[in-house]
Amino acid sequence: MVQLIDSYDRKMDYLRISVTDRCNFRCQYCMPEDIKFQDSTELLSLEEMLTFAEACLQVGVTKVRITGGEPLVRKGVVDFVGDLKAMGFEDVTMTTNGFLLKENLAGLVAAGLDRINISIDTLQQDKFAFITRRNHFQKVWDAIMAALETPLSPVKLNAVAMRGINDDEIVEMAKLTLHYPMHVRFIELMPLNGDTDGSRFRALFISGKEILERAQGELGDLREVEREDPAAPADEFKFDGAPGTFGVITPVSEPFCARCSRLRLTADGKIHPCLLTDLDVPVKEAIRSEDPIPEIHKVLWKTAGIKPPAGLTLPEEARNRTMSQIGG
Ligand code: SAM
Ligand code: SF4
Repeated sequence: MVQLIDSYDRKMDYLRISVTDRCNFRCQYCMPEDIKFQDSTELLSLEEMLTFAEACLQVGVTKVRITGGEPLVRKGVVDFVGDLKAMGFEDVTMTTNGFLLKENLAGLVAAGLDRINISIDTLQQDKFAFITRRNHFQKVWDAIMAALETPLSPVKLNAVAMRGINDDEIVEMAKLTLHYPMHVRFIELMPLNGDTDGSRFRALFISGKEILERAQGELGDLREVEREDPAAPADEFKFDGAPGTFGVITPVSEPFCARCSRLRLTADGKIHPCLLTDLDVPVKEAIRSEDPIPEIHKVLWKTAGIKPPAGLTLPEEARNRTMSQIGG
């Protein structure tokens, strides 16, 4: 089989599909309260996204993550998981804010979802309401507990680290891994969502290194866990005897570009080859053409050809986007 490879010899085998730019939360680091979502007529249908996925599968993409926006607000997304599995993807995963998860768990498991990542930045209800601008901590926590009772356990929890906001909870969040089969990961804050001068970033950023040191200082030695997937972004560690792992994702202090295998499809039909640039390659027309698969292949090879090398920093013009538009 032909394998999609970029100009720096990186294998492109991982596709993230943003099934919608819409969300039922308004996390401060991700989008403004009054965000204008795209007109729904601009968005690809799920069938069109499947056509794109099929073209990717044919050039060696084996893993798909469904994200957004909030993927569970898109009608039909549970069947979409089943369709991707039936098509032959080895690994189909989802990143969600958890709000609509509990009622969808049985369906997602039946559809064959392989894993789930749930975003939760704090264990405190008031702080949760402050960060997400929605008072839904309990519902998200209940969904996490329910997910642990399904084949989707162990679950991954993602928290964006913010100095003065949730860094006082690093130890509490790390302690979860002593009690539950959870992989808790703090993500370094990226200067997106209009933070063009980087002032929000400078006030709140906290590095992965500091996070690990603080957890280690309180809870004892962390042993490094060997990476199962060499392209995985998280550095993961374990406390002695813990059922879960604790880790950091460091897109700012130690970007994983050299081992990046990702392509991102936006809900409105563009391919983003790199989170650190505002490059995008329109693919909607190819998807809607009479013979879509070969047309999509042409766009995929063009995208692989312009995927930037490692070593970039996020330029100002890329900071006006939100992670929900790109498909974080
Ligand atoms: N709505 C889902 C969720 O929150 O899990 C999926 C989409 S969300 C854009 C995907 C991930 O991007 C979340 O874990 C979120 O915390 C992260 N994210 C959003 N904005 C970010 C930023 N400025 N810096 C770092 N991570 C960010
Ligand atoms: Fe929504 Fe996820 Fe962005 Fe929060 S991080 S606003 S839940 S898309």
